[in-house]
Parts: sequence; C-alpha cells; structure tokens
Amino acid sequence: TDTSPSSPWDDLPIRDELRGQSPYGAPQLDVPVRLNTNENPYPLPDALVARIAERVAEAARHLNRYPDRDAVELRTALAAYLTRTTGHEVTAAGVWAANGSNEVLQQLLQTFGGPGRTAIGFEPSYSMHALISRGTGTGWISGPRREDFTIDVDAAVAAIAEHRPDVVFVCSPNNPTGTAVDEETVLRLYEAAQAAKPSMLVVDEAYGEFSHRPSLLPLIEGRPHLVVSRTMSKAFGAAGLRLGYLAAAPAVVDAVQLVRLPYHLSAVTQATALAALEHTDTLLGYVEQLKAERDRIVTELRAMGCEVTDSDANFVQFGRFEDSHAAWQAILDQGVLVRDNGVPGWLRVTAGTPQENDAFLDAVRALRKENN
Ligand code: PMP
Repeated sequence: TDTSPSSPWDDLPIRDELRGQSPYGAPQLDVPVRLNTNENPYPLPDALVARIAERVAEAARHLNRYPDRDAVELRTALAAYLTRTTGHEVTAAGVWAANGSNEVLQQLLQTFGGPGRTAIGFEPSYSMHALISRGTGTGWISGPRREDFTIDVDAAVAAIAEHRPDVVFVCSPNNPTGTAVDEETVLRLYEAAQAAKPSMLVVDEAYGEFSHRPSLLPLIEGRPHLVVSRTMSKAFGAAGLRLGYLAAAPAVVDAVQLVRLPYHLSAVTQATALAALEHTDTLLGYVEQLKAERDRIVTELRAMGCEVTDSDANFVQFGRFEDSHAAWQAILDQGVLVRDNGVPGWLRVTAGTPQENDAFLDAVRALRKENN
C-alpha cells in the first residue's frame, strides 16, 4: 500500500526514477525583502535597458530566420570577458553558451553522463547537480564534505577512486555554503578523476565573480577534461535573461554540439546578452558593492553571536538553529524571505541592497532577542 501523497502525474506512465520526486524551486512569495534565490538586487541601469531595446529591435527584423546556431558573436564577446577578467586567454572556440548554466550543465551530463554512467558532487552543494543527473539518467553519488563545509581532499579522492564516476562536480564558491575551493584541491581531484577513469571535472563557478580568490578557469590550460561553468544570472544581474556559458578545451565545445538542440539560443537572448556585455564595467561595479555588503553581513551576524560560514559568494550561510525551519518562518514573519536549503541548523541569505540587508539583520537580531 502506497501512502505517499498523490501527485497529478500519478496515473501517467512517467519514468520510474521521477516517481515520488518534486520539481526544484524556491517559494516565490510576495514579501517586501526577497533574499532567497541569490539574485542580484540591482535592476539593470537605464543606459543598458536602452541598449538592449536597440539590439533586440535590430534582432527582431530578422526573426523570420533562425538565430546564429553557433552564437559566434556572443561566444567571442564572452571569451573576451573571460580573458580580461581572469587573465587567461580564452577564444570563442573554447566557449559555449546556453539558456542558463543549468542548461550548460544539462548538456554536459547528456554528453558525458547518461544511462549506465555516474556523477559525483560533494554535499551539501547545488542540488541541481543531482537533479540534472537524475533527469539525464545519470546515477548520482553523494560525496563527503567536512563539518566546516570545506572539501576534505583525501576523502574526496578516495570517493572518486572507489566509485569511478564519469563526471565530478566541484562548486566554487559552493552553493549553499559560500565555500570557495583552492587550486590545489581542484588539481588533486582532477588527477584522481583521470586516474580512475578518466572522467570530466566540472567546476561550477556561477558565483565566481564574487569570490575573494581568483577564478579557477586558468586551470583548463593543458587539461582536456576540465570544464568551468559560468552564468550571467548573478554577477551580470541578469537572472531573467537565462544565459550561462562554459570555458573548456575546444574539443569539449565540439562534443556538446552532439546534444544541444539546434538554435537553442534565441536571437533575442543573444542580442540581450551582447548588450549586457557592453556594460560589463558598470555591472562589475555593482558586484564590488555586493561583495562589501556580503562581508558586512558576515561581520554583523558574527557580532550578534551567530555562526557564519566564510563566504566567497553573494550569499551567506548562517546559524545555527535548533529548528531552522522555525527560524526561517520567524524571519519571514518580519517580511524577509531567506532560504532553507535543508542543511540542518543552517539558513542562507542573499546579499541585497544595504537597506534590504539592514532589514534582514534587524530581523535576525529580533529573533535572537526573542530566543534569549
Ligand atoms: N550553479 C549554481 C551553483 C547555482 O547556484 C545556480 C543558480 N542558483 C546555477 C548554477 C544556475 O544558474 P543559471 O541557470 O541561472 O545560470
């Protein structure tokens, strides 16, 4: 007898591995301060909005045609951005773009994972790595992390040697903990992955621009199985655009062509992303403000006596709460929405505008007073 709550698709012949699952997504609640999905709080500046309108109008003239299937102009602009900001020379041949980095990750798993294959990540980490694995028929292996949320390299290397996964995910800075990974760790995991199989190592740098550390991207040099994935959703303040990208050896980009849908990136998306890239300097200015606010949140939470995980991202993991869901609700009752990622004892808050962060800090202060 099945006692699980019923779902609308219960009577449909869906794939066995999807039964009993729920779709990914944080609550989209209408509250004054929303700090739960690691969005950038700053709307795009007016000059950029005007430029998007211009470029999209130009693209609209040609919407009777399919878009540039290979998105060459966009990949060239992304390569120039990466070269400028990481100091490592990247060319369009070594860059690929898709609708959000989630689609980039999905394409990587369709290419390198799939039925009969496995992927590993070191949890808690970005839960979509496991979900996209499942969606592509790739077996998921939950690898270990230390109590302080850093990666225990010896334990991680041992897990890779034991399971011989086809894809290894390293999220840096890690969501939801904010923890960045150093070069040494990536190099050891890469070596372990090569010795075991060889397999692909995917470094998810969705929050790379917010880190105190330099990008891990230069490590792709001479490492044909290393991929760095990035997004315009966070640093570029363009979560609504849906534009993610990767940098890797050109052969990886060629391989991904086998699974990408033809014309997956609309002409409107390509035009908008190109306009945003023209305004990189302004947008990276907001990133600097957010990094300072992130550091302020860490300092102020610690001053209140909270435990806080060091953060290299645009969000902060804080706790510890005996009942993190009750704490989440108490903060929400004060009009501030944060995220309960299901890490026992911990919650996550995204750095917003200074005013939003003040509202959040006041809410936590009030909660601590109540509990003391
Ligand atoms: N990777 C990580 C670690 C993330 O946190 C997110 C967004 N929450 C993504 C990838 C996907 O972002 P997008 O599809 O918007 O690029």
